[in-house]
Parts: sequence; structure tokens; C-alpha cells
Amino acid sequence: MIDKSGIGSLNKIEYRGRFAPSPTGPLHFGSLIAAIASYLEAKTNQGKWFLRIDDADYLREQKYASDSIKKALELHGFEWDKDIQYQSNSNVLYKRMRNHLIDNKKAFRCNCSRKILKNNQTGLNGIIYTGTCRKKHITNDYSIRVFVDQLKIKFNDEIQGSQSSQLDKDIGDFVIWRRDNIISYHLATIIDDNELGVTNIVRGNDLINSTFCQLYLQNLLNYKNPTYSHIPVVVDKNKQKLSKQFGAKEISNKLNTQNLVDGLLALKQTPPDDLASDSLENIWSWAIENWNSKTLEMTRSVKTPNL
Ligand SMILES: [Zn+2]
Repeated sequence: MIDKSGIGSLNKIEYRGRFAPSPTGPLHFGSLIAAIASYLEAKTNQGKWFLRIDDADYLREQKYASDSIKKALELHGFEWDKDIQYQSNSNVLYKRMRNHLIDNKKAFRCNCSRKILKNNQTGLNGIIYTGTCRKKHITNDYSIRVFVDQLKIKFNDEIQGSQSSQLDKDIGDFVIWRRDNIISYHLATIIDDNELGVTNIVRGNDLINSTFCQLYLQNLLNYKNPTYSHIPVVVDKNKQKLSKQFGAKEISNKLNTQNLVDGLLALKQTPPDDLASDSLENIWSWAIENWNSKTLEMTRSVKTPNL
């Protein structure tokens, strides 16, 4: 019999990375450095890089934001493989995976009010859910939570080092489907990462505790676990994380070359002094040739360059 797999099968699995902004506002400096870092990791690993718009939560979406983010990335010289992916196209798949978890007794309905939950202890990701509704029969107005039994989740973050959580004690049964009938961030992100065959996730360190939930869900659904790299978050002079929620400034497309160089500096790279006056193409060539993520090791946050 001819071995159709050939020598190619001995090759490493292709690197697949992604940038997945939520269209809740325009691109700000904090999300720009996540885009730069994930792009450079993919490029230096001869990998693919995808752009996915995480618009599953349509209630928080700003209608102009998807186009504005896309335009900003284009004008900063990012090039993505494949067409842009939109989570809003995954609804049928989301429901199928939700039902699969329920049918396999991995998830249950919960109708605890916010007021009741407020009395719970706070853990890694907000309140710790202690299984109140696990055995209840609830027929309407509910969220869906996944059963979390005594379990330690460990992973080795490429930047932040070894991480572990006792999931039942630190987080408890967490929501996979919200009461307003919208999929949770954790479930949506792992389903779409799996669909895209994402092998490596590079994102802000503010999401590091989400990784425990996401690894757990990947295991429940027999998905492969990607490798994680959590880059430092950008903080302002008051040590507040830059975020759309706190009105972080939109990056100016007119300052594209300067923004990229500022991004490289925030990512602890050492671009030459005059790089910002060079072309986008040359900036990216320099960045790809010189990218070194080791400089970020164990760094949780970095200051905004000149805001
Ligand atoms: Zn409950």
C-alpha cells in the first residue's frame, strides 16, 4: 500500500494564530499591541494569521466598530489569511455545542438572580458559583452553567510561565450561555478557535484567568488545547488597564508608523530611533526579523508610551 501521508506528515503542525477583537469600540493602543504580538508570533513561525470579529454579544456591539477596526488594521499594514471571520455567523454551531453539553449532562440550568449571587465569594473570574441549581428543575428564564467538579487545571503560558487553578474552588460552575440567550465569551471563543484550527493564542494578560475555563471546555468537547501566550496589558499613568470600557483613545491611522513603533517599544523590542519615519513595509520587515518575545517573560503590564 502506498503511504499517502508521505514525508510531509512528519512536519510540524502549521502554526495558526489569530486576533479576535470585540467590536465594542474602535482599535485602541492596548488592542493594537495584542494584534502586533500575535501577528509577529505567527509570521516568525511561518504560520497563518486570522482576523476574527468577536461579535457574538450583539448587545454590546457598536455598529461602526467592525469596519473601523478592520480599516485601522489595514492602514497599519496587517494582512490576514482567509476572509474575516464573524462570530455572528456561528450561531447554529453554538447552539449545537450547547445542546451537546446539556445532553451529555455536562451543563445545567441556573436561575439564581444577581442579587443572590452577590452574596457568593469572589474568585478568579468574579463570583464563585457553588452549585445551587445543579439539581433544580428549571423551565424558564435561566442561564446555563457547566458542572465543575474538583479539578486542577494547569498550563504553561509561553510568557507568564506555569499557571494553575483549582477550578471548583477558584471559579465554580461557570456560565456558558447567558440568561439573555447569548453564548458566553468562554464557549464562543473555544468553538471558533477550534473551527479555525488555531494552534497558538496570543492575547492580553487580563484574559489569563479565562484560560482555565477555556481549557476545561476544550477538554469537555474533545478539542485540542492551543498554546497560550499572555502578553502584558497596557496601563495608563494611574495603572488602569487601557480598555474601551474606560474610554481608551482610538488610535489615529494618520500616525500608523509611529503607532507601530510605539507598539514595538511597549512590547519591549528595540527598534532603531528613526524607524517611525520609514515605510510600513520596512517597519514590518524589521519587526519580523527582530521579534523576540522572551523580553516579555513574566511581565504582567507595561505603561502607555505617550498618552
Ligand atoms: Zn443557580
